[in-house]
Amino acid sequence: MCTHTRTVKGHWQSEGGEDIWVDDHEVPTTRDIDLHRYECTKCGKVMYYSEAARRYYEEGITCSVKGLEG
Ligand SMILES: [Zn+2]
Repeated sequence: MCTHTRTVKGHWQSEGGEDIWVDDHEVPTTRDIDLHRYECTKCGKVMYYSEAARRYYEEGITCSVKGLEG
């Protein structure tokens, strides 16, 4: 099951001439498709920023939000 993130392993990072330790952390693997949708670049799942956007793209129901009008 995709978590839409990837793990960046702990590593040393040079910052302003100083080496600092960066712990393991998760970063999102999502990118914006347009104003209302984004997708995971790992699994390809398309997600929506709002319920109105989901309805527009999945069910063709328009609303007054910019970009989701009929
Ligand atoms: Zn994913």
